[in-house]
Amino acid sequence: MFDLKAAIGVAQTVTFLTGAGVSTLSGIPDYRSKGGLYSGMKRPEDILSVPYLQEHPAEFHQWVTRNMYFPEAKPNVVHEKMAAISNVKGSVITQNVDGLDARAGTKHLTEFHGNLYRVYCTNCGKASDYTVYLHDWHCPYCGGILRPDIVLYGEQINQDVLASAVNAVRSADLIIVVGSSLVVYPFAGLLDLTRSDAQIVAVNKERLELPQGAVMLQGDAATLFAAL
Ligand SMILES: [Zn+2]
Repeated sequence: MFDLKAAIGVAQTVTFLTGAGVSTLSGIPDYRSKGGLYSGMKRPEDILSVPYLQEHPAEFHQWVTRNMYFPEAKPNVVHEKMAAISNVKGSVITQNVDGLDARAGTKHLTEFHGNLYRVYCTNCGKASDYTVYLHDWHCPYCGGILRPDIVLYGEQINQDVLASAVNAVRSADLIIVVGSSLVVYPFAGLLDLTRSDAQIVAVNKERLELPQGAVMLQGDAATLFAAL
């Protein structure tokens, strides 16, 4: 069996790519997962879009606040270990919008798809506290539509965020993918940018399609990371 702890020990720079599988360990359901609470209803891809937000702000707000906000959730052992390792020598690129990587104390963090707990007005641009947004989607300053600072379907990744992610991937000699099924682009495409000498390791419950030479550690991320 591949020794992840030893690999981290000898690596110069470790970059973690992380996704929904880490948040579910903190009790946050994956809104993209099939067969869940929302089967038979509108798909998340249809709701989480700029046109839907603009045409149905109340419905967008209701869906997002009911299905995506879990302010009581706390970082788990995977968040904590990623923070501890990356703070010394590396960084974390997260697909998760729940802010748990930041709350775990991760210093070198790229929030690839944004953060639900930053909210701004689509009209005047002013920031509002998420606790305001949980109760009302109207901007307290101008009455415009508030939205979370997350990347909606059809929206581009912010250029600075993309540059930061590319830099983090290119600087690493060890890439650890955890809790991401690598199906959402352009996030999944980051693996194509790794250095030729970089070791790629994926920790996931289900087997993933990985580049040649990559190591697949199939199993429970919490158990594996607790031992690091
Ligand atoms: Zn406003």
